[in-house]
Amino acid sequence: MPELPEVETVVRGLRPLVQGRTFQSAQVHWPRSLHSPAPQDFAVRLAGQQVRAVQRRAKYIILSLDDDYLLVHLKMTGRLYVWPSASSDEDADERWVRVRLRFTDGDELRFSDARKFGKLYLTADLASVLGKLGPEPLEDDFQPRDFIARLRGHQRALKALLLDQTFIAGVGNIYADEALFRAGLHPLRPAHSLDNDEAVRLYQAIRQAMGQAIDQMGSSVNWYRQADGTRGEAQHSLLAYGRNGQPCLVCGTTIAKMRVVQRGTHFCPNCQPAP
Ligand SMILES: [Zn+2]
Repeated sequence: MPELPEVETVVRGLRPLVQGRTFQSAQVHWPRSLHSPAPQDFAVRLAGQQVRAVQRRAKYIILSLDDDYLLVHLKMTGRLYVWPSASSDEDADERWVRVRLRFTDGDELRFSDARKFGKLYLTADLASVLGKLGPEPLEDDFQPRDFIARLRGHQRALKALLLDQTFIAGVGNIYADEALFRAGLHPLRPAHSLDNDEAVRLYQAIRQAMGQAIDQMGSSVNWYRQADGTRGEAQHSLLAYGRNGQPCLVCGTTIAKMRVVQRGTHFCPNCQPAP
């Protein structure tokens, strides 16, 4: 699933392509791709609204329109991209197009989604979708002392807690493993057991892992592509995720894999000692 760095990369790619353009109509091929409202209301309400800004919150893409927000969650296999009206429809991706949003000039913003878990929301009430999310890890106002205080309140395993979007926004399976590896912390360490130094290490590791991945346009380990359809590069720089069976890049110990909250979890048994 695309995580914060991947969604941020899509947002940065889409922004110059859609900002200032006005929607004319919507075609919904798979109604369940719309969380709300119903397809007919969606199309009527969208028509005539101009895209004022394109932003990200957690793993949501947010288009600020005249009267509403259009939010997109890509989930497992969703892709959001601009399809120029001059293109031919021979792209292999087209069979998975679920929603087509036409601009007044004929180009389209397309949402494709093979597995159909992704969702679009058209709402004037941003908080109704985003209300419960935790802090953004890369924002300046997210300080180590805030993170330490939040950790203290939880007994859960670090891996489980990092995946909880109400604890911290935008971290998923890849960057949880990457952050814990960089911090030298075992995925099953109870959150409240970290001392100050360990907590600060984890805080910095989350920011470094995500920041580096954004610089490399995200990790294309499966479906994720940038807004222009090209792959990211960050998958080549992952230190733990997907490296099970290979030597740790720090100490040479074989990277192990286990299940934590149903998710494949990659770690170095030497650099990340068991609790
Ligand atoms: Zn190691």
